[in-house]
Amino acid sequence: MEIPFHRSYTTEADIQGVVETLKSGWLTMGPRTVQFENRFAELVQAKHAVAVNSCTAALHLALRVLGVGPGDEVIVPAMTFAASAEVVCYLGATPVITDVDPETHLITVEEIEKHVSPRTRAVIPVHFAGQAADLEEIMSFARNRDLKVVEDAAHCYPSFYKGRPIGGIGDVTAFSFYATKTLAVGEGGMATTNNEELANQMKILRLHGISRDAWKRYTKEGSWYYEVVDAGFKYNMTDIQASLGLTQLDIAEEAWKKRSKIAERYNAAFGGHKSLRTPVIKPDRQTSWHLYVLRINPETLSINRDEFINKLKEAGVGTSVHFIPLYRHPFYRQLTKTEPKNFPHSEWLFERIISLPIFPGMTDKQVDYVIENVLRIADEFAK
Ligand SMILES: *Cc1c(COP(=O)(O)O)cnc(C)c1O
Repeated sequence: MEIPFHRSYTTEADIQGVVETLKSGWLTMGPRTVQFENRFAELVQAKHAVAVNSCTAALHLALRVLGVGPGDEVIVPAMTFAASAEVVCYLGATPVITDVDPETHLITVEEIEKHVSPRTRAVIPVHFAGQAADLEEIMSFARNRDLKVVEDAAHCYPSFYKGRPIGGIGDVTAFSFYATKTLAVGEGGMATTNNEELANQMKILRLHGISRDAWKRYTKEGSWYYEVVDAGFKYNMTDIQASLGLTQLDIAEEAWKKRSKIAERYNAAFGGHKSLRTPVIKPDRQTSWHLYVLRINPETLSINRDEFINKLKEAGVGTSVHFIPLYRHPFYRQLTKTEPKNFPHSEWLFERIISLPIFPGMTDKQVDYVIENVLRIADEFAK
C-alpha cells in the first residue's frame, strides 16, 4: 500500500465553483474574494478579514502595519516554518528565537520573558499543528509590556481557545490556505483583526499601495482614477482561490471531523506504548488536527527518528517532520548567533517527532495500515 503524507480534499462543489468563476469573466480579486473575507471573518469572530495570496504575506502585512521596522526585535518560537521568521527580516527587524514547551511544542510566556528586550516590538505565537498557544497569558503579558501579538495561525482553521475561535484574539491573526493546510485552496492566506484601521492599511498594502478597493476601478461602480499612497505589494488573492475557499468552508466541519476520527484512532493505538507518545492537547483548546505529530522514544529503540521514517517510507507510508527548528537552518543560525544547545526542548523534540498522514480522504484501511506499520517498527526495533 502507498499512503501519501497529504492529499487535498477536493469536492465536486469546488470544481463547480471554479468553473462558475471562470465563466463569470472575473478571475482576480473581486466579488468572491469579498464574500470569502466576510464569511471567514464571521466564522472566526473577527471584525475584519483581508484575503491575500499566502500566510507569509499576511504575516508580513501584519507586522508592517503594526509598525515593526529596522532595529526592532520580534520573538518567534523555534518550532515553526521559516515563514514566521523571514517576514521579520523583510522589515529590517531581527527575529529572536525562543525554545518551546516540550509537551505542546508551543511558545510560553516564560520563554518570551527570557528573550524580551527594550527593542522587542512584537511576538508571533505559532499555534503548532492547530493547537493554540496560551493566548490569555501571552496577551496579558504583551499588553503589560506594550508588545504587539501577531498569531501565526497557518494550521488553525478551525481551532478554538477557551471556546473562542482563533482569529479574533491577537492584534492580527494570519491563516494559510497552502496546498497541505486544512482548506484545499492551493495557495492563499487571510489576515484577521478587530482593528479597522489595521485592516484598511493591510487592504491598501496588499495591492500596490493603491487607495482602498483598487480592484473596483475595473467594475461598473469604479472609476479609472486612483492614487498610490504607499509602496505596496502584489499580495492580493484571486477570485478563483476565493471560490475554492468558499466551497471548502462549506465542508470544513466535516473535514475536521474526519481528521479528528483519524487522530482518535492513532491515539488509541499508540497511547501507552513504551516507545511512542501521542500529541498532548490541553483541555481548554480544540485543535484543527492539521498535523498529527507522533513522538518516538529513542531510549527504548535501537533506531533513531530518521531511521524510523525510512522504515515507514519502505512500507509506503509518507511522513514529514514539523519542524526543523529555525536555529538549525544556516541562515538563522548565523543571523541570531545561537547554538542548538540553547534550545534543549526543541532539540529533544527534534530527535523524536514524526508527522503521520492525517488527511480527510484517508480510508479506514489506510489508517489501519499506518497504525500496523508504526507498531511493527516500534516493536521490531525495541531495545
Ligand atoms: C505553512 C506555514 C506558513 C506559511 O504559509 P503560506 O500560506 O505558505 O505562506 C507559516 N507558518 C507556518 C507555521 C506554516 O506551517
